[in-house]
Amino acid sequence: MSTALSAPKIGFVSLGCPKALTDSEQILTQLRAEGYETAKSYDGADLVIVNTCGFIDAAVQESLDAIGEALAENGKVIVTGCLGAKKDAEGRDLIQSIHPKVLEVTGPHALADVMSAVHKHLPKPHEPFLDLLPPQGIKLTPKHFAYLKISEGCNHRCSFCIIPSMRGDLVSRPIAEIMLEAENLFKAGVRELLVISQDTSAYGVDVKFRMGFWNGKPVKTHMTQLVEALGELARAHGAWVRLHYVYPYPHVDQIIPLMADGAILPYLDVPLQHAHPDVLKRMKRPASGEKNIERIAAWRAMCPDITIRSTFIAGFPGETESEFAYLLDFLKEARIDRLGCFAYSPVAGATANLLADPVPEEVREERRGRVMQLQEQISKELLQAKIGKTVRVLLDEVKRDGSGIGRSAADAPEIDGVVYVKPPYEPHRKLLVGEFVDVEVVAADAHDLWGNS
Ligand code: SF4
Repeated sequence: MSTALSAPKIGFVSLGCPKALTDSEQILTQLRAEGYETAKSYDGADLVIVNTCGFIDAAVQESLDAIGEALAENGKVIVTGCLGAKKDAEGRDLIQSIHPKVLEVTGPHALADVMSAVHKHLPKPHEPFLDLLPPQGIKLTPKHFAYLKISEGCNHRCSFCIIPSMRGDLVSRPIAEIMLEAENLFKAGVRELLVISQDTSAYGVDVKFRMGFWNGKPVKTHMTQLVEALGELARAHGAWVRLHYVYPYPHVDQIIPLMADGAILPYLDVPLQHAHPDVLKRMKRPASGEKNIERIAAWRAMCPDITIRSTFIAGFPGETESEFAYLLDFLKEARIDRLGCFAYSPVAGATANLLADPVPEEVREERRGRVMQLQEQISKELLQAKIGKTVRVLLDEVKRDGSGIGRSAADAPEIDGVVYVKPPYEPHRKLLVGEFVDVEVVAADAHDLWGNS
């Protein structure tokens, strides 16, 4: 434990998705702003905050285990994040019923509540060391890329998802605040900004696209205007902007020219989840009436280099063999560049669990396997076609032998492939983490590329 003379120390355990990660960053930033320090071990901490994830059962267990460990090792524990909003079967707060010794529990995106819980159990130091706080805040990602959260919550009610019940309806951040954060991140050396939310295309709907101001100019709280402004800023700093969680509403077409023009990366993460209209209806998906094959073809015509990423669910309740075959046909035609597929997982509390004709687990898994097998072949062909081309790569890692591992415009961190870069031929040249290099592709498999810089 720290002495009375030193700053109070807080241990922090951050679990979950990039959206939870940005919550952690905001809490850590505020703690540092108020003069708290972070502890590297449980016994060096005066208090521990655990930011939890409650999305699937495995994540719930991981979060509960982390809370148990923090209680056993330290004893003073505050819990925040998605699991904090969950109830047990009797409607009691899930965490308090399993771990009654936890001091306070808040839901996700609850900076003010977490800070008041901290103040209550570990009063803040007298002299905040404001000058120790970097203007870009505290980041948990490497220095050269960062996630930028533009909104919280979601207005949709997809039947397999419990996020709206945990995170609430859509709340868009003011555009000036987002732009200032982006500028501070670029100034601090960030080379790639990953825009995240639950539904990026819906940005501004909750505030009726109200007018904001950035750099003395009016800018609407709308995805298109935000992306234009971010693209301009990124260009001035020689950096990348990558968009995630974009639903295929018609106005998405307006941002494809910005990709073709190089203002933002030609990368679109559109979670489609299925192709058959009846399954999409049962899923209650946003933009489910869109003709996605035509849309994808139109995007490719506007921006031939575009990488399309998507996720799908196999074995959704009621999915017939012919609905599943429809999905496979769609995937064969769409030839999506980057694809993830999950077997349907009946998350506790999701209304989809009440639908008729649930698909047995082994069939869900088998269908998932068939999607991934098909995708492996498509991805292999698409990546083979890159051999002989030159791609720009942002280096994430440099090895002792001088070789590097990085990502091209087609690769988001953690979820897509990587590019392995050989050590440069020139003996005086060294690869550096966070640097852009142009790489000639010499080999490919179904996920990754290999090349020379
Ligand atoms: S769009 Fe659907 S899946 Fe995504 S967060 Fe909202 S309810 Fe969940």
